Amino acid sequence: MESKIWMSSPHMGGKELEYIKEAFDTNWIAPVGNNINQFENSLKETLGGTHEVVCLSSGTAAIHLSLILAGVKRGDSVICQSFTFAASANPILYQGATPVFVDSEDDTYNMSPKFLEKAIKDGVAKGNKPKAIIVVDLYGMPANFEKIVAISKKYKIKLIEDAAEALGSSYKEKPCGTFGDYGVLSFNGNKIITTSSGGALVCKTKADKERAIFLATQAKDNAVHYQHSSIGYNYRMSNVLAGIGRGQMEILKKHVLFRRANNAFYKDVFQHISTVKVLQEPNHNFYSNHWLTTIVIDDETNTFNREALRQKLLDNNIESRPLWKPLHLQPVFQSYLYYGNQVSTTLFTKGLCLPSGSNLSELDKHRIKKVINSYFNLDA
Ligand SMILES: *Cc1c(COP(=O)(O)O)cnc(C)c1O
Repeated sequence: MESKIWMSSPHMGGKELEYIKEAFDTNWIAPVGNNINQFENSLKETLGGTHEVVCLSSGTAAIHLSLILAGVKRGDSVICQSFTFAASANPILYQGATPVFVDSEDDTYNMSPKFLEKAIKDGVAKGNKPKAIIVVDLYGMPANFEKIVAISKKYKIKLIEDAAEALGSSYKEKPCGTFGDYGVLSFNGNKIITTSSGGALVCKTKADKERAIFLATQAKDNAVHYQHSSIGYNYRMSNVLAGIGRGQMEILKKHVLFRRANNAFYKDVFQHISTVKVLQEPNHNFYSNHWLTTIVIDDETNTFNREALRQKLLDNNIESRPLWKPLHLQPVFQSYLYYGNQVSTTLFTKGLCLPSGSNLSELDKHRIKKVINSYFNLDA
Protein backbone atom coordinates (compact mmCIF):
# COMPACT_ATOMS: atom_id res chain seq x y z
CA MET A 1 0.00 0.00 0.00
CA GLU A 2 1.26 3.46 -0.89
CA SER A 3 1.79 5.92 1.98
CA LYS A 4 -1.20 7.80 3.44
CA ILE A 5 -2.12 11.15 1.96
CA TRP A 6 -3.74 13.27 4.70
CA MET A 7 -6.25 16.07 4.25
CA SER A 8 -4.20 18.55 6.23
CA SER A 9 -1.23 17.50 8.33
CA PRO A 10 1.24 19.56 10.39
CA HIS A 11 4.00 21.16 8.32
CA MET A 12 6.93 22.61 10.22
CA GLY A 13 9.04 25.47 8.90
CA GLY A 14 12.35 24.61 10.56
CA LYS A 15 12.83 27.12 13.39
CA GLU A 16 10.21 25.68 15.75
CA LEU A 17 12.60 23.45 17.77
CA GLU A 18 15.00 26.36 18.21
CA TYR A 19 12.27 28.45 19.86
CA ILE A 20 11.19 25.50 22.01
CA LYS A 21 14.82 25.11 23.07
CA GLU A 22 14.86 28.80 24.00
CA ALA A 23 11.95 28.16 26.36
CA PHE A 24 13.93 25.31 27.96
CA ASP A 25 17.20 27.27 28.09
CA THR A 26 15.52 30.18 29.86
CA ASN A 27 13.36 27.82 31.97
CA TRP A 28 10.11 29.53 30.93
CA ILE A 29 8.25 26.21 30.83
CA ALA A 30 5.09 28.05 31.79
CA PRO A 31 2.08 29.89 30.39
CA VAL A 32 4.25 33.05 30.39
CA GLY A 33 7.38 33.95 28.46
CA ASN A 34 9.10 35.41 25.43
CA ASN A 35 7.69 32.91 22.91
CA ILE A 36 4.14 33.95 23.81
CA ASN A 37 5.01 37.64 23.48
CA GLN A 38 6.78 37.12 20.15
CA PHE A 39 4.03 34.90 18.76
CA GLU A 40 1.38 37.46 19.76
CA ASN A 41 3.41 40.27 18.18
CA SER A 42 3.80 38.51 14.87
CA LEU A 43 0.10 37.57 14.79
CA LYS A 44 -0.75 41.20 15.52
CA GLU A 45 1.47 42.33 12.65
CA THR A 46 -0.04 39.77 10.24
CA LEU A 47 -3.50 41.06 11.17
CA GLY A 48 -2.49 44.58 10.15
CA GLY A 49 -1.33 45.92 13.53
CA THR A 50 -4.75 47.34 14.39
CA HIS A 51 -5.84 44.62 16.83
CA GLU A 52 -4.65 43.00 20.05
CA VAL A 53 -3.97 39.26 20.18
CA VAL A 54 -4.14 36.91 23.18
CA CYS A 55 -2.72 33.41 22.78
CA LEU A 56 -4.84 30.73 24.39
CA SER A 57 -4.96 26.96 24.85
CA SER A 58 -7.42 26.51 21.95
CA GLY A 59 -9.70 28.21 19.48
CA THR A 60 -12.63 26.89 21.48
CA ALA A 61 -11.33 28.74 24.56
CA ALA A 62 -11.11 31.90 22.42
CA ILE A 63 -14.78 31.56 21.40
CA HIS A 64 -15.75 31.03 25.04
CA LEU A 65 -13.85 34.15 26.21
CA SER A 66 -15.31 36.16 23.29
CA LEU A 67 -18.80 35.32 24.48
CA ILE A 68 -17.92 36.33 28.05
CA LEU A 69 -16.37 39.62 26.86
CA ALA A 70 -19.44 40.24 24.68
CA GLY A 71 -21.52 39.98 27.86
CA VAL A 72 -23.34 36.76 26.97
CA LYS A 73 -25.06 35.34 30.03
CA ARG A 74 -27.41 32.53 31.03
CA GLY A 75 -30.70 32.76 29.12
CA ASP A 76 -29.34 34.99 26.34
CA SER A 77 -29.63 33.87 22.75
CA VAL A 78 -26.65 33.82 20.40
CA ILE A 79 -26.87 33.49 16.61
CA CYS A 80 -24.39 31.02 15.11
CA GLN A 81 -23.69 29.85 11.57
CA SER A 82 -25.12 26.33 11.31
CA PHE A 83 -22.66 25.08 8.71
CA THR A 84 -19.54 24.72 10.88
CA PHE A 85 -17.66 22.60 13.41
CA ALA A 86 -19.40 21.99 16.76
CA ALA A 87 -16.67 24.00 18.52
CA SER A 88 -18.15 27.21 17.04
CA ALA A 89 -21.34 26.68 19.05
CA ASN A 90 -20.39 24.60 22.11
CA PRO A 91 -19.21 27.64 24.12
CA ILE A 92 -22.71 29.18 23.76
CA LEU A 93 -23.90 26.27 25.88
CA TYR A 94 -20.95 26.61 28.31
CA GLN A 95 -22.38 30.07 29.04
CA GLY A 96 -25.88 28.67 29.59
CA ALA A 97 -27.06 30.66 26.58
CA THR A 98 -29.23 29.41 23.70
CA PRO A 99 -27.95 29.01 20.14
CA VAL A 100 -30.03 30.13 17.15
CA PHE A 101 -28.72 28.62 13.93
CA VAL A 102 -28.54 30.41 10.58
CA ASP A 103 -27.99 28.80 7.18
CA SER A 104 -25.25 29.59 4.68
CA GLU A 105 -25.25 31.23 1.27
CA ASP A 106 -24.26 29.38 -1.88
CA ASP A 107 -21.21 31.31 -2.98
CA THR A 108 -19.15 31.57 0.24
CA TYR A 109 -20.66 28.63 2.22
CA ASN A 110 -20.80 31.11 5.12
CA MET A 111 -23.61 32.86 6.98
CA SER A 112 -26.53 34.05 4.87
CA PRO A 113 -27.10 37.78 5.55
CA LYS A 114 -30.76 37.33 4.60
CA PHE A 115 -31.47 34.64 7.17
CA LEU A 116 -29.29 36.39 9.75
CA GLU A 117 -31.53 39.45 9.55
CA LYS A 118 -34.65 37.29 9.67
CA ALA A 119 -33.39 35.56 12.85
CA ILE A 120 -32.60 38.92 14.48
CA LYS A 121 -36.00 40.43 13.58
CA ASP A 122 -37.76 37.36 14.93
CA GLY A 123 -35.77 37.49 18.18
CA VAL A 124 -36.50 41.20 18.60
CA ALA A 125 -40.22 40.60 17.94
CA LYS A 126 -40.27 37.98 20.69
CA GLY A 127 -38.54 40.38 23.11
CA ASN A 128 -35.37 38.28 23.01
CA LYS A 129 -32.85 40.24 20.97
CA PRO A 130 -29.76 38.10 20.27
CA LYS A 131 -26.74 39.11 22.33
CA ALA A 132 -24.05 38.08 19.82
CA ILE A 133 -23.50 36.69 16.33
CA ILE A 134 -20.88 34.01 15.55
CA VAL A 135 -19.94 34.07 11.87
CA VAL A 136 -17.40 31.59 10.45
CA ASP A 137 -14.85 31.75 7.59
CA LEU A 138 -15.14 28.11 6.56
CA TYR A 139 -12.32 26.37 4.75
CA GLY A 140 -10.52 29.73 4.73
CA MET A 141 -13.21 31.53 2.69
CA PRO A 142 -14.13 34.92 4.15
CA ALA A 143 -17.81 35.46 4.94
CA ASN A 144 -19.78 38.21 3.19
CA PHE A 145 -18.54 40.83 5.65
CA GLU A 146 -19.88 43.88 3.88
CA LYS A 147 -23.39 42.69 4.69
CA ILE A 148 -22.75 40.78 7.93
CA VAL A 149 -20.88 43.68 9.60
CA ALA A 150 -23.58 46.14 8.44
CA ILE A 151 -26.32 43.99 10.00
CA SER A 152 -24.45 43.62 13.30
CA LYS A 153 -24.00 47.43 13.41
CA LYS A 154 -27.59 48.17 12.38
CA TYR A 155 -28.96 46.08 15.25
CA LYS A 156 -26.07 46.86 17.64
CA ILE A 157 -25.25 43.19 18.23
CA LYS A 158 -21.69 42.07 19.03
CA LEU A 159 -20.01 40.19 16.21
CA ILE A 160 -17.63 37.28 16.83
CA GLU A 161 -15.63 36.10 13.82
CA ASP A 162 -14.63 32.44 14.03
CA ALA A 163 -11.57 32.64 11.77
CA ALA A 164 -10.16 29.34 13.10
CA GLU A 165 -9.63 28.19 9.51
CA ALA A 166 -8.85 31.54 7.95
CA LEU A 167 -5.52 32.93 9.17
CA GLY A 168 -3.96 34.48 6.06
CA SER A 169 -7.30 35.09 4.31
CA SER A 170 -8.73 38.55 3.73
CA TYR A 171 -11.81 40.38 2.47
CA LYS A 172 -11.33 43.69 0.64
CA GLU A 173 -7.70 43.43 1.79
CA LYS A 174 -8.68 43.41 5.47
CA PRO A 175 -7.38 40.30 7.26
CA CYS A 176 -9.81 37.65 8.49
CA GLY A 177 -9.98 37.63 12.26
CA THR A 178 -10.44 41.41 12.41
CA PHE A 179 -14.03 41.85 11.21
CA GLY A 180 -15.90 41.41 14.46
CA ASP A 181 -15.72 42.87 17.93
CA TYR A 182 -13.79 39.67 18.66
CA GLY A 183 -11.95 37.26 16.39
CA VAL A 184 -10.92 33.66 16.92
CA LEU A 185 -7.91 31.77 15.56
CA SER A 186 -7.00 28.10 15.98
CA PHE A 187 -3.62 26.41 15.85
CA ASN A 188 -4.86 22.84 16.15
CA GLY A 189 -2.83 20.14 14.39
CA ASN A 190 -4.84 20.30 11.16
CA LYS A 191 -5.03 24.08 10.75
CA ILE A 192 -3.04 26.34 8.41
CA ILE A 193 -0.38 26.74 11.10
CA THR A 194 -0.23 24.68 14.27
CA THR A 195 1.12 24.75 17.81
CA SER A 196 -0.12 21.09 18.17
CA SER A 197 -3.05 22.59 20.05
CA GLY A 198 -3.72 26.24 20.68
CA GLY A 199 -5.68 29.27 19.64
CA ALA A 200 -5.92 33.03 19.94
CA LEU A 201 -8.44 35.72 20.71
CA VAL A 202 -8.31 38.86 18.58
CA CYS A 203 -9.75 42.01 20.14
CA LYS A 204 -9.81 45.75 19.59
CA THR A 205 -8.50 47.28 22.81
CA LYS A 206 -5.73 46.79 25.36
CA ALA A 207 -8.43 46.70 28.05
CA ASP A 208 -10.11 43.73 26.31
CA LYS A 209 -6.75 41.99 26.04
CA GLU A 210 -6.05 42.51 29.75
CA ARG A 211 -9.50 41.27 30.67
CA ALA A 212 -9.04 38.18 28.47
CA ILE A 213 -5.66 37.36 30.04
CA PHE A 214 -7.15 37.90 33.52
CA LEU A 215 -9.99 35.44 32.78
CA ALA A 216 -7.64 32.98 31.04
CA THR A 217 -5.31 32.83 34.05
CA GLN A 218 -7.80 31.99 36.83
CA ALA A 219 -9.10 35.55 37.43
CA LYS A 220 -6.65 36.44 40.20
CA ASP A 221 -7.43 39.82 41.77
CA ASN A 222 -4.62 42.17 42.64
CA ALA A 223 -3.52 40.89 46.09
CA VAL A 224 -0.52 39.07 47.65
CA HIS A 225 -2.66 36.05 48.50
CA TYR A 226 -4.96 34.43 45.93
CA GLN A 227 -8.10 36.55 45.87
CA HIS A 228 -10.99 36.04 43.43
CA SER A 229 -14.06 38.10 42.68
CA SER A 230 -14.91 36.50 39.32
CA ILE A 231 -14.88 32.97 37.90
CA GLY A 232 -11.70 32.28 35.99
CA TYR A 233 -10.43 29.74 33.49
CA ASN A 234 -7.11 28.06 32.76
CA TYR A 235 -6.98 28.98 29.08
CA ARG A 236 -3.57 30.58 28.51
CA MET A 237 -1.16 29.14 25.94
CA SER A 238 2.03 27.38 27.07
CA ASN A 239 5.29 29.21 26.32
CA VAL A 240 6.69 25.91 24.98
CA LEU A 241 3.90 25.59 22.40
CA ALA A 242 4.13 29.30 21.55
CA GLY A 243 7.66 28.47 20.37
CA ILE A 244 6.13 26.27 17.66
CA GLY A 245 3.80 29.12 16.71
CA ARG A 246 6.70 31.57 16.48
CA GLY A 247 8.42 29.27 14.02
CA GLN A 248 5.22 28.67 12.05
CA MET A 249 4.64 32.40 11.56
CA GLU A 250 7.84 32.59 9.54
CA ILE A 251 6.36 30.31 6.86
CA LEU A 252 2.67 31.28 7.03
CA LYS A 253 2.68 33.31 3.80
CA LYS A 254 4.52 30.56 1.93
CA HIS A 255 2.13 27.89 3.19
CA VAL A 256 -0.90 29.96 2.16
CA LEU A 257 0.55 30.07 -1.37
CA PHE A 258 1.04 26.26 -1.33
CA ARG A 259 -2.62 25.79 -0.34
CA ARG A 260 -3.75 28.21 -3.03
CA ALA A 261 -1.68 26.25 -5.53
CA ASN A 262 -3.48 23.07 -4.40
CA ASN A 263 -6.78 24.81 -5.11
CA ALA A 264 -5.59 25.74 -8.61
CA PHE A 265 -4.49 22.12 -9.10
CA TYR A 266 -7.98 20.83 -8.24
CA LYS A 267 -9.62 23.46 -10.45
CA ASP A 268 -7.57 22.05 -13.29
CA VAL A 269 -8.34 18.41 -12.40
CA PHE A 270 -12.10 19.07 -12.38
CA GLN A 271 -12.31 21.53 -15.26
CA HIS A 272 -13.81 18.97 -17.65
CA ILE A 273 -16.04 17.26 -15.10
CA SER A 274 -19.32 19.14 -15.39
CA THR A 275 -20.94 17.53 -12.33
CA VAL A 276 -18.25 18.87 -9.97
CA LYS A 277 -17.97 22.40 -8.61
CA VAL A 278 -14.80 23.48 -6.78
CA LEU A 279 -15.43 26.22 -4.17
CA GLN A 280 -13.95 29.44 -5.56
CA GLU A 281 -13.61 33.01 -4.37
CA PRO A 282 -16.87 34.68 -5.58
CA ASN A 283 -15.02 37.83 -6.73
CA HIS A 284 -11.83 39.83 -6.18
CA ASN A 285 -12.97 41.10 -2.78
CA PHE A 286 -12.32 37.62 -1.42
CA TYR A 287 -8.86 36.21 -0.78
CA SER A 288 -8.98 32.70 0.69
CA ASN A 289 -6.04 30.83 2.22
CA HIS A 290 -7.84 27.78 0.74
CA TRP A 291 -7.14 25.90 3.96
CA LEU A 292 -9.11 23.04 2.47
CA THR A 293 -10.23 22.71 -1.13
CA THR A 294 -13.80 21.46 -1.26
CA ILE A 295 -15.95 20.15 -4.08
CA VAL A 296 -19.65 19.55 -4.54
CA ILE A 297 -20.75 16.69 -6.80
CA ASP A 298 -24.09 17.50 -8.36
CA ASP A 299 -25.17 14.57 -10.51
CA GLU A 300 -28.92 14.18 -10.92
CA THR A 301 -28.52 10.53 -11.87
CA ASN A 302 -26.34 9.92 -8.79
CA THR A 303 -23.94 7.89 -10.97
CA PHE A 304 -21.20 9.98 -9.43
CA ASN A 305 -21.55 10.82 -5.77
CA ARG A 306 -19.60 12.06 -2.80
CA GLU A 307 -19.61 8.81 -0.84
CA ALA A 308 -18.37 6.65 -3.69
CA LEU A 309 -15.54 9.05 -4.48
CA ARG A 310 -14.58 9.22 -0.80
CA GLN A 311 -14.47 5.42 -0.67
CA LYS A 312 -12.43 5.21 -3.84
CA LEU A 313 -9.89 7.70 -2.45
CA LEU A 314 -9.79 5.77 0.83
CA ASP A 315 -9.15 2.50 -1.04
CA ASN A 316 -6.07 4.25 -2.39
CA ASN A 317 -5.02 5.43 1.08
CA ILE A 318 -6.08 9.04 0.43
CA GLU A 319 -8.01 10.83 3.15
CA SER A 320 -11.04 12.99 2.32
CA ARG A 321 -14.09 13.95 4.37
CA PRO A 322 -17.69 15.13 3.85
CA LEU A 323 -18.26 18.85 4.41
CA TRP A 324 -19.49 19.86 7.89
CA LYS A 325 -22.77 18.38 9.01
CA PRO A 326 -24.90 21.47 9.79
CA LEU A 327 -25.25 21.96 13.53
CA HIS A 328 -29.06 22.25 13.37
CA LEU A 329 -29.02 18.60 12.21
CA GLN A 330 -26.69 17.41 14.99
CA PRO A 331 -28.45 15.36 17.69
CA VAL A 332 -27.09 17.63 20.43
CA PHE A 333 -28.40 20.85 18.78
CA GLN A 334 -31.56 19.61 17.03
CA SER A 335 -33.97 21.26 19.44
CA TYR A 336 -32.76 24.82 18.79
CA LEU A 337 -34.19 27.36 16.35
CA TYR A 338 -32.92 27.37 12.78
CA TYR A 339 -33.37 29.94 10.00
CA GLY A 340 -32.62 28.96 6.43
CA ASN A 341 -33.45 26.78 3.51
CA GLN A 342 -31.49 23.79 2.29
CA VAL A 343 -28.12 25.32 1.39
CA SER A 344 -25.98 23.80 4.17
CA THR A 345 -27.90 20.52 4.08
CA THR A 346 -27.21 20.17 0.37
CA LEU A 347 -23.54 21.03 0.86
CA PHE A 348 -23.32 18.33 3.53
CA THR A 349 -24.97 15.72 1.30
CA LYS A 350 -22.95 16.44 -1.82
CA GLY A 351 -19.71 17.99 -0.63
CA LEU A 352 -16.24 16.59 -0.02
CA CYS A 353 -13.02 18.07 1.45
CA LEU A 354 -9.93 17.00 -0.47
CA PRO A 355 -6.28 16.64 0.62
CA SER A 356 -5.06 20.23 0.88
CA GLY A 357 -1.94 20.28 3.07
CA SER A 358 0.86 22.74 2.36
CA ASN A 359 3.12 19.67 2.35
CA LEU A 360 1.30 17.88 -0.48
CA SER A 361 3.99 16.69 -2.93
CA GLU A 362 3.83 16.55 -6.74
CA LEU A 363 3.75 12.77 -6.41
CA ASP A 364 0.80 13.02 -3.99
CA LYS A 365 -1.06 15.23 -6.46
CA HIS A 366 -0.32 12.79 -9.26
CA ARG A 367 -1.80 9.93 -7.21
CA ILE A 368 -4.88 11.98 -6.33
CA LYS A 369 -5.47 13.04 -9.92
CA LYS A 370 -5.19 9.45 -11.11
CA VAL A 371 -7.82 8.21 -8.67
CA ILE A 372 -10.18 11.09 -9.47
CA ASN A 373 -9.81 10.60 -13.23
CA SER A 374 -10.37 6.89 -12.89
CA TYR A 375 -13.49 7.47 -10.77
CA PHE A 376 -14.95 9.85 -13.35
CA ASN A 377 -13.89 7.51 -16.19
CA LEU A 378 -11.33 9.92 -17.62
CA ASP A 379 -7.89 8.94 -18.80
CA ALA A 380 -5.19 9.67 -16.28
C1 LIG B 1 -10.78 24.11 14.59
C2 LIG B 1 -11.99 24.95 14.69
C3 LIG B 1 -12.43 25.44 15.92
C4 LIG B 1 -11.85 25.03 17.22
O1 LIG B 1 -10.51 25.32 17.41
P1 LIG B 1 -9.67 24.43 18.45
O2 LIG B 1 -8.36 25.15 18.49
O3 LIG B 1 -9.56 23.07 17.89
O4 LIG B 1 -10.38 24.48 19.75
C5 LIG B 1 -13.53 26.29 15.93
N1 LIG B 1 -14.17 26.62 14.81
C6 LIG B 1 -13.78 26.16 13.61
C7 LIG B 1 -14.52 26.59 12.40
C8 LIG B 1 -12.70 25.29 13.51
O5 LIG B 1 -12.34 24.81 12.32
